[in-house]
Amino acid sequence: MITTLVILEGVSLASGIDVPRVYWAVAVLCPLVLSTIISGRLIHQSETLNELYAELQRAHEQLKIAAQRDPMTDVLNRGAFLVQIGEMRSTGVAGWLVLIDVDHFKVINDRHGHETGDEALRQIARLLREAARAGDLIGRLGGEEFGLYLPRTTAAEAWALTERVRLHVAQSPAYVVNGRPHHVTISLGLAMERSPAESLKDILHRADMAMYRAKDEGRNRIAAAA
Ligand code: GH3
Ligand code: MG
Ligand code: MG
Repeated sequence: MITTLVILEGVSLASGIDVPRVYWAVAVLCPLVLSTIISGRLIHQSETLNELYAELQRAHEQLKIAAQRDPMTDVLNRGAFLVQIGEMRSTGVAGWLVLIDVDHFKVINDRHGHETGDEALRQIARLLREAARAGDLIGRLGGEEFGLYLPRTTAAEAWALTERVRLHVAQSPAYVVNGRPHHVTISLGLAMERSPAESLKDILHRADMAMYRAKDEGRNRIAAAA
C-alpha cells in the first residue's frame, strides 16, 4: 500500500498532474480490504492446523498406549512389561517380580471351549488389576501366564500383596457356564533382584523356577526364589 502511495506521489510530482482523490482512495482501500481478507483466512487456517495437530498428537498417544497392551486382557503385553521394568530399574527403582501361571487352565478349554478360556483370562486380568496397587505393573507374558512388578516394596509387603492376589483370584468367580460361576487358582513365583546389575533375564528365570516349585508343591500357592 505504501509503495502504491509513493508511486502515485512520484507520478503526481513528476508530471505535475494532480492525481484525483478517488485514485488515492483506491490506492489505500484496495490493499487494506485485500490484506484484511487474507489475514482472516490465514488466522482461520492456522487455527484449523493447530486443532488438527492436537488431534494427531492425541491419536498418536492412543496408538502408543494400544501398542503396549495385550488386546484380549488389556494389561501390558510381554514386550512393554519387560521394557517398563527395565526403565524402572535403570532409574534405580528396585522391585519384586511375580510370575503367575493359572492352574490346570487347559481343563477349562477342554471342558468348556476356547471362548470360555478366553473369558477366564480376561476375568483373571481384571482380578489382578483389582488386587494390585496403582503403581504396580501388570503384564501378560503369554498364554495363561501373567506377571506383576512391585516397585519400591519391602519383602513383607511383597509377600502380603502376592498373597492378596492369590486369595482374590481363588475367591472370585473367573467364568460362568450355564449360569454357574467357576473359580480358578493361580501359582505364583516371587523374586527380588539380587543387585541392580543382575539381568532381568536372570530375575525372570529365578521367578519362573519359584513358580514351578509352587506348582510342584500343590498349586494355588506362592514360592519365593532363593
Ligand atoms: P498347570 O497347572 O500345570 O499350569 O496346567 P495348565 O493346564 O494350566 O498348563 P498347560 O501348559 O498344560 O496348558 C496351558 C493351556 O493354556 C494350553 C493352551 O491351549 C491354553 N492357552 C494359552 N493361551 C490361551 C488363550 O489365549 N486362550 C485360551 N482359551 N487358552 C489359551
Ligand atoms: Mg503355563
Ligand atoms: Mg497353567
